[in-house]
Amino acid sequence: MIARRLLALAATPVLAALLAGASQGGGAAPGAPTAGDPYFPQSGDGGYHVVHYRLDLGYAPASRRLDATAVLTSTATQKLSSFFLDLSGLTVSSVTVDGRKAAFSRSGVKLKVTPAHALPRGRSFSTVITYAGVPKDVTDPDGSADGWITQKDGSVFVAGEPQGAMTWFPSNSHPLDKSTYEIAVTVPDGWSAVSNGRLESQCASNGRTTFDWRETSPMAAYLATASIGKFQVQSYRTASGLPVYNAVDPAEAKAAAPVLAQIPAVVAWESTLFGRYPFDAAGAIVEHAHGVGYALETQTRPIYDRAPDIDTLVHETAHQWFGDSVSLDRWKDIWLNEGFATYAEWLWDAQHGGPGTAARLAADYALPATNDLWSFPAGDPGSAANIFGTPPYERGAMVLEKLRETVGDKAFFAILRTWAGERRYGHGDSAQFVALSEKISGERLDSLFATWLYGQGKPATP
Ligand SMILES: [Zn+2]
Repeated sequence: MIARRLLALAATPVLAALLAGASQGGGAAPGAPTAGDPYFPQSGDGGYHVVHYRLDLGYAPASRRLDATAVLTSTATQKLSSFFLDLSGLTVSSVTVDGRKAAFSRSGVKLKVTPAHALPRGRSFSTVITYAGVPKDVTDPDGSADGWITQKDGSVFVAGEPQGAMTWFPSNSHPLDKSTYEIAVTVPDGWSAVSNGRLESQCASNGRTTFDWRETSPMAAYLATASIGKFQVQSYRTASGLPVYNAVDPAEAKAAAPVLAQIPAVVAWESTLFGRYPFDAAGAIVEHAHGVGYALETQTRPIYDRAPDIDTLVHETAHQWFGDSVSLDRWKDIWLNEGFATYAEWLWDAQHGGPGTAARLAADYALPATNDLWSFPAGDPGSAANIFGTPPYERGAMVLEKLRETVGDKAFFAILRTWAGERRYGHGDSAQFVALSEKISGERLDSLFATWLYGQGKPATP
């Protein structure tokens, strides 16, 4: 992962210059204040990899205040004189590196940390950041809000795609950097806090309860959650032994129940299509959240702003393979997440009394050239404002149906399973997916992808 990360980043001008400088001088240099993604140039940080986050969060619903400590165990990927973390708002009171006080400064969403001594390349180091305040969500280029989204009653909907992780913890927040997590949240009795992975312990003391969660598979920062509410909790194991933990706002409980009851069936069905389920926990967080308007595939336990329908559940569950386990290198390739999750809906519907996938493709193709569907190519959204537009989802699914019709079912599902299996817990990009499709099918597919993934406007023939 570190080698891959360096290769991917070396293509960016900032880090390329930095690496060139480092190789000439051999001295310590600051880590780059970016992962080099043109869609979100302020996201992510060069020069180190976060192996593990330990977050201790205390939240007071009445005042909305968060008091927190973050412990980041990282590895330097260059000799570092200083490095950056992403953090939006909040007040930092102290930073230490390996137990020694470190200098720090804030500029925009960047927290610059200067340790007492330079950190040699390859060195493991621990950064402790103490911070507090009332978190504020961020507005994305498409106008939607993400991050720590507080509701009127003090409950919190936490979903960080694409850049909201920085609203509640200091992080290296581009999906290039994946880490394991321990997230402990302390809330007043009667409230619950739900995060990713497994609940390690739940301890009540002096009117407050601490929920201590562990995510032991690598996770991109945007997929972390620590959602807080007065939830109804349901906890059980599936027939195959997978622990399921659902947390549901009482206002949504009745509508959510029949859909959430399908989680074991959906996980089992997708496992037959995509290969072994990548994580050691599953479940759902269902909030009654006004003004959010979306669900997110938070790792192991998707979050829904209201009771989901079955297609939404199928979609967010499919992301556990496509987006969560296999992550993006750059946001431009968002169709690798959204097209695949949308195609999972097509497959589910086709096998559960809905239209077939070929009919779905034909119906989409019949839409006029002026429809939003054709406004930009699925594989090249053009800007960060477009990544959650229609094409990466619907045209992304069309690409997969065209691929399936071209190479046949056997090769097609082998491609999906191999993609999820070979890249499990890692990354993938569009060119790698095209190459894998050609390798497994034995066919030249460049014109198919040129037309359906990268072509401007509506293709001339279906
Ligand atoms: Zn999605």
